[in-house]
Amino acid sequence: MPEGDVPTFVLATGNSHKVDEVTRILASLGVECTIVSMDDACQAAGVSVPDIVEDGATFADNALIKARAICELTGGSVLAEDSGITVDALNGMPGIFSARWAGSHGDDQANLDLLINQLTDVPDDRRGAAFECVLAMVTQDDIGEVSEFVVQGTVRGHVLREERGSSGFGYDPIFVPDGFEQTTAQMTSDQKDGVSHRRRALEKLAARLGS
Ligand code: IMP
Repeated sequence: MPEGDVPTFVLATGNSHKVDEVTRILASLGVECTIVSMDDACQAAGVSVPDIVEDGATFADNALIKARAICELTGGSVLAEDSGITVDALNGMPGIFSARWAGSHGDDQANLDLLINQLTDVPDDRRGAAFECVLAMVTQDDIGEVSEFVVQGTVRGHVLREERGSSGFGYDPIFVPDGFEQTTAQMTSDQKDGVSHRRRALEKLAARLGS
C-alpha cells in the first residue's frame, strides 16, 4: 500500500464485543485505519446484511466464509474473525461451535453453564484450554482481483469450575490465561487486550498491513 495511505476496511461482524475489542486493540497497536461497520458498508452498497451460514470445518474456514461473503457485496477490504474456546478434555471442542454450544447461537450464559457442567468431573490438572482467534482479510481491488490472507492468535490457559468476574463476554468468566490468577472477566479491558488471542492475531494483521 502506498506510503501515507490509511487503510479502510469493513469489519464483518455483528458482535459488538468484537467490534469494541478490535477497534481498541488496533488503536493501542498504533495502527491507523478506518473501520466501517458491516451494516454501514451494506447500506452504502444498497444491499441488506446477509445471513451468513458459518458451515466451515475450522476457524479459518468460517472467517473466510464471512469475509468473502461481505467482500462480494461491498468490494474493498473486509476483515472477519472467527474465534472460540478449545478445551483439551473435550478434544478441542467447543471450538468452532463455541457460540452455539448449548444450541442457540450467541446464548453466552447457556453455553457457559453447559461447559461448566460437562467438565464437572475433570480434575484440576486436566483443565487446560485455549482461546483462539483467526482473522481473514479479503480484498477486491479496482480491477476485481481478489486477494486473501489469514492470521491466527492463541492464548493458553485453564477453565475454572465456577464463574468469576463480569467483564468481557462469552467464556471470559471461567478462563484463566497461563501466568495469571484472574479470569479474563476479572481483568480490565487493557489487561485482557494485553494477553488475548484477538490481540495476538491483530499484531500479525498489523505487521501485514504495514508491509
Ligand atoms: P463467533 O462469533 O462465531 O466467532 O463466536 C465466537 C464465540 O466464542 C463467542 O460467542 C464466545 O462464546 C467465544 N469467544 C470468542 N472470543 C472470546 C473471548 O475473547 N472471550 C470469551 N469468549 C470468547
